[in-house]
Parts: sequence; C-alpha cells; structure tokens
Amino acid sequence: MTVFDELMEMNNAYVEEFASQGLSHLPARALSVLTCMDARLHPEAALGIRLGDAHVIRNAGGRASDDAIRSLVVSQRMLGTREILLLHHTDCGMSSFTNVELAAKIETDLGVDVGEYDFLPFTDPAEGLRQDVETLVFSPLVAGGTLIIGAMYDVTTGTVSEVLRRTA
Ligand SMILES: [Zn+2]
Repeated sequence: MTVFDELMEMNNAYVEEFASQGLSHLPARALSVLTCMDARLHPEAALGIRLGDAHVIRNAGGRASDDAIRSLVVSQRMLGTREILLLHHTDCGMSSFTNVELAAKIETDLGVDVGEYDFLPFTDPAEGLRQDVETLVFSPLVAGGTLIIGAMYDVTTGTVSEVLRRTA
C-alpha cells in the first residue's frame, strides 16, 4: 500500500462528509497567505481558514520569490484579494544550509552544476521575514494600499505572533 493509497482512503471519507458546494472562486476573506511548506505548519488549522476563505501560497521558506509574487498578482488582480499575511515559522529548514552547501550537494547527488542559483536560504529568521515583507511592499506588482502582515508561527506551541505590518 502506497502513501497515496492511504490518502485515497481518507479522501473517500472526506467526500462522504463534503458539504461545501457552491463556493465562490473569489476568496471570501479577500486574503492571501504566503507561507513555508514545512509539514509542521497547517495554516488553515492554525488560523481558522475555511474552504473558500483565502489563497494559501507555499514554498520553501515562505519566501517572496518571483513565483510567489506571480501567484499574488493573480490573487490580487484576478481574484480580488487585498490583504497579505506573510507567515514564517520557528526552526525553519531554510536556515540550515547555504547556497554553496546545497549547490555542492546537488553536484554530488545529481551531477548538476547549478552555478550561483539562489535557493533563498536565510540565516536570521526575523531578518528573512523582514526582507520578504519589504520585497512585497516595494514590488510594483503588489497593489498600493495592500496591508502586508509579517508573522511567525511557533512549531512547538502553534502560536502565531505578529512581527511587523506594512502597507504597500
Ligand atoms: Zn520553513
């Protein structure tokens, strides 16, 4: 039995209880959340985000990368979101390596030279969060007047704490 087979059993149970037909594709709370892919963080559960409420965009570190901004542009321009929560977390794996270290591992494991590729690791979590908020504030692709909240999730307690808020 694969992990996917286990998931499909769970999905069968989910479908039995499913009662969220007819939701708008426009997020009801006009919110986008940009957060890390860390498996210990379930933003929907931690913040009471229900189906249809918000866009949740995830990547390694919850970084404001070009592709995250791509999704935020679609979210804002096409789907009406107005507030952005940038949610980073304690003990993030993105502060456990450097670009040079990961590039060396890729060379060893895969035989690929990625050159100067930036995987967007950070050494100081608070600084990483501040940088990403600033990137969004100053991005010409984020609508002026957008409220951008930077917050941290504590993986040991489940607590979300606001760190800074800015307006684009
Ligand atoms: Zn992380």
